[in-house]
Amino acid sequence: MLTGDRPTGPLHLGHYVGSLKMRVELQDKLECFVLLADLHVLTTRNERLDEIGDNIREVVLDYLSVGLDPKKTTIYLQSLVPEVMELFWLFMPLVGVPRAQRIPSLKEMVRDLKLETASMALLSYPILQAADILMVKGDVVPVSRDQASHVELTREIARRFNATYAPVFPEPDAPIGPMLIGTDGQAKASKSIGNVILLSDDAKTVEKRVRSMYTDPARIRADIPGRVEGNPLFLYHDSFNDDTAEVDELKERYRKGKVGDVEVKKRLAAAINRFLDPIRERRAAFESQPGLVDEIIREGSARARAECQRTLAEAREAMGLTYFRDSTTVKVSR
Ligand code: ATP
Ligand code: MG
Repeated sequence: MLTGDRPTGPLHLGHYVGSLKMRVELQDKLECFVLLADLHVLTTRNERLDEIGDNIREVVLDYLSVGLDPKKTTIYLQSLVPEVMELFWLFMPLVGVPRAQRIPSLKEMVRDLKLETASMALLSYPILQAADILMVKGDVVPVSRDQASHVELTREIARRFNATYAPVFPEPDAPIGPMLIGTDGQAKASKSIGNVILLSDDAKTVEKRVRSMYTDPARIRADIPGRVEGNPLFLYHDSFNDDTAEVDELKERYRKGKVGDVEVKKRLAAAINRFLDPIRERRAAFESQPGLVDEIIREGSARARAECQRTLAEAREAMGLTYFRDSTTVKVSR
């Protein structure tokens, strides 16, 4: 399995439902790689890049706090595996320009992040992602809906590479996790937009963020029947409130105009805090161990790099790019 996150900020509840939960389950069944995709940050951002370092450390603490175990899951930093850029380039000729332009998430990112235009980096970002995945010969790539089209392109690249040169790469499957809507009612909670509740938010912050969440806009008074379907408050209740009897009862009263948004929000904040408490406890335990996170990244990246060097050597061999070897060239053992 391979999946990952851009270190553009700390992780949020959307990451949990869409991806982290599945990763934690899979780490007992598959060989797992989780990538800190720092080079991917450049696709949408060229200012305040010095923040990436802090974000990386926060994201690793997020991983550990939800139960990713570095003994089972190789956590690594993309830029510590520079071979990925070479594989990326070997894939570039396999993708036509119109095909790259058709990726739906590109337009969404330009719109949501209010970019002036898509840069060449953004346009080719799904191809770099294909290199990330195929570098470790990933078969399973759990992502949420916004990334599904990228895994589809990865499959195409693997197919085309195998047909053009020699069979080297698997065609990965992408179990699609659910997508969590933003606290502002936008279709996607996103760390770059900030419409999120963080896994590292404290109880007071959660209460504040829930108080300002969007709800049924037509409901101007608590005694007007409200809409439950598509209402962010209830979507969050469904995802995080373990007390399903409470959720059912709130929905029923909401539909009849017998409960105010304030109460629905209070109970939601309490439920999210119940959900986050054990995550917070684990985080505090890991935070108190200085050097731990850097060590995890260093070790994981060395492990991932060895794997990637083997794959790159195989790819070059399949393509016939073997006309000059020096002592640093990794030999493919068959
Ligand atoms: P950015 O806004 O910087 O792109 P992001 O919040 O979209 O950040 P990514 O690092 O791009 O996060 O995505 C990491 C993983 O989390 C991907 O698998 C993606 O599908 C998933 N993911 C991101 N946002 C959500 C969401 N709101 N609900 C469910 N899954 C999500
Ligand atoms: Mg994203």
